[in-house]
Amino acid sequence: MRGAVLHAPGDVRVEEREDPRILKPSDAIIRLSATCVCGSDLWPYRGIEKVDGPTPMGHEYVGIVEEIGREVRTVRPGQFVVGSFFASDNTCEICRAGYQSRCVHAELMGTIGTQAQLARIPLADGTLVATPDVPSGDLVPSLLAASDVLGTGWFAAVAAEAGPGKTVAVVGGGAVGLLGVLAARHLGAERIIAVSRHADRQKLALEYGATDIVTGRGDEGVAAIKDLTAGLGAHSVIEAVGTQESMMQAIRSTRPGGHVGYVGVSHGVELPGMELFFSGVHLHGGPAPVRRFLPELIDLISNRQIDPGKVFDLHLPLDQAPEGYQAMDQRRAIKVLLRP
Ligand SMILES: [Zn+2]
Repeated sequence: MRGAVLHAPGDVRVEEREDPRILKPSDAIIRLSATCVCGSDLWPYRGIEKVDGPTPMGHEYVGIVEEIGREVRTVRPGQFVVGSFFASDNTCEICRAGYQSRCVHAELMGTIGTQAQLARIPLADGTLVATPDVPSGDLVPSLLAASDVLGTGWFAAVAAEAGPGKTVAVVGGGAVGLLGVLAARHLGAERIIAVSRHADRQKLALEYGATDIVTGRGDEGVAAIKDLTAGLGAHSVIEAVGTQESMMQAIRSTRPGGHVGYVGVSHGVELPGMELFFSGVHLHGGPAPVRRFLPELIDLISNRQIDPGKVFDLHLPLDQAPEGYQAMDQRRAIKVLLRP
């Protein structure tokens, strides 16, 4: 099969990879209908995260089940399935509490590399959710978004306790931040402040339900959010970047008693204890338990109540993955969909 492999910073190649096989009776093999490049793929692509030799890339996926192991019960060949970037059994205590990304048997799909024609899905019964029918092609981008960016934005909004009567601020104008806006709107937030400096992202944020746009980063962004909230800060703040600056912007933009939902993969973030102590804010986040939300998200997408697929503003054949990485790295694209 063909698959994307990162050889060194800035050097992604689409090359022949070995076809995946069923390794455990709980595995399934899927043929991907679509996959994509994640903001978090840019950390190793930019050399900020070390890679150790040629590394298969990708952790987002939707596709058709090709083959199942002998223990798999809930999906069968021919079904269209969506899964999360963590495989999970969905039966352990942590999963049943809704934290499938921290399942005691969790396996990171990034190590499998789903920017490829085929992928092995561990713990298929717990990981995969089948759609009622094979969806029409125009729904595929939105279902793919559910695999990570939508589920992650949704978790961030839930963790930040977005809801009726709340002012929600969203730090981070990438796909996750934009879909955090969509989630906050769906959860009934009264006012949604999106932080973004890019015109295309601001436009989509407004389409998804943002009521205000703030362009400042860091302390300037904090001041702008305080100005819009009578000096108090927002009730709920979504952090969708993962840097020291964005994390501190999120905490400082939250009013005492408010909630921060942080989902940007943390890189070099250190929190000052004394400031945290006196902030009086709730912090909750981490790798999103996307599996918790998949059934509801698949429903909302299938009924065309939400359209998260609009974050994919560049669609390319898998073989052009290198161009996709470049476009995201240079911010020419919000998010790149790859067709295997
Ligand atoms: Zn589990």
